[in-house]
Amino acid sequence: MNTFGDRVPVCFTKGKGIKLEDTEGRIFSDFFAGIAVSVLGYAHPKLIDTICNQAARLLHCSNYYYVESQAILAEKLAKATCADRFFFCNSGAEANETAIKLARIHYKKSGYSDKYNIIAMQNSFHGRTITTLSATGQEKYSLPFEPLTPGFIHVPMNNYDALQNAVGNGNRICAILLEPIQGESGVNAAETPYIKKVKELCEAKDILLIFDEVQCGLGRTGKFMAYEHFQVEPDIYTLAKGLGGGVPIGAVGAKEHVALSFSPGEHGSTFGGNPLACATAVTVVEEMLSKGFIEKTAENGRYFIGRLKKLAEKYNIIREVRGKGLMIGIEYVQPIANRVKNSMFDLGYLVGAAGDKVTRLLPPLIICKEDIDEFIIVYERLMCDLINNA
Ligand SMILES: *Cc1c(COP(=O)(O)O)cnc(C)c1O
Repeated sequence: MNTFGDRVPVCFTKGKGIKLEDTEGRIFSDFFAGIAVSVLGYAHPKLIDTICNQAARLLHCSNYYYVESQAILAEKLAKATCADRFFFCNSGAEANETAIKLARIHYKKSGYSDKYNIIAMQNSFHGRTITTLSATGQEKYSLPFEPLTPGFIHVPMNNYDALQNAVGNGNRICAILLEPIQGESGVNAAETPYIKKVKELCEAKDILLIFDEVQCGLGRTGKFMAYEHFQVEPDIYTLAKGLGGGVPIGAVGAKEHVALSFSPGEHGSTFGGNPLACATAVTVVEEMLSKGFIEKTAENGRYFIGRLKKLAEKYNIIREVRGKGLMIGIEYVQPIANRVKNSMFDLGYLVGAAGDKVTRLLPPLIICKEDIDEFIIVYERLMCDLINNA
């Protein structure tokens, strides 16, 4: 259907590391990873092994039966994060739907009939289903699909007074939902003092804290989970994008007492937690938790952001460089993000754009310093050209 408009005129056929090759044999360096998905790059030997072996044994059997890799994945995530129990699904939107259902049923079962509203942030992005659109704080996505799911209130992020006002006595609020670092709207991080106060407010008013880590979770920001930057643990978090390294899988993690609010039959999924997706995700998570992986991501992120900030000092067309780890936004003083994206494409580099002023970089986490150096040379040349032709 006509949902994606005119595609970029290229068709990739294969890749290796951070390089992609198209039907014409042209090679591109990927600094977008298919929207933060291809965390281990392309043709990663361990992923190939896992997927081929699992395909030869068992792809699917449904959740009526035990799935070994599902249990192993849950155990690994439980050890590495603040959550105790997991539900597996197939996308970020489904993971957020699940989190919303869990928060609502949690209070319904505790005897509250009106504690079902969820406070979300302006400029957030939580998915494309009617309910996750209702949670998303961007009218351009949601308005065409009214009527929306009731029960969502939006407040500006990093504005504690607005949040406190919306919460009131808390009797009608079941959850506060936020991306610790907003991705889709241009790499905007929550401030640590704000997040700490949000957590305190949740505890004081008996409200669940849900972090949407679909984009910022799993090593992307130089920590395994983005919440580690803020020293605040959510009650529920959601994952997807990078979890399967390119194989679709989403996950919802929750603290034990919250997770236990679901009874058998109240939620489910045909494909969710299937052997192929879970075995693949186990390999992705093992690789990320292997010695030095996250540290290297953090180090490369610091290096990359450092070099970009130097460019921002030199070229005042760049207003700001922001982000954490390998989740990076470059904001310009003019609406040139699409021009930058197209020019970088012509030069053999894939980057993203958020709105018309922000270049979004989400490279595979296996990127190395030399890749970053090469990118900087090409990008700096482009900045010079843009200024000279202005
Ligand atoms: C991409 C994204 C989603 C939606 O994930 P899908 O897999 O496209 O449904 C939700 N939340 C955040 C923060 C995202 O970046």
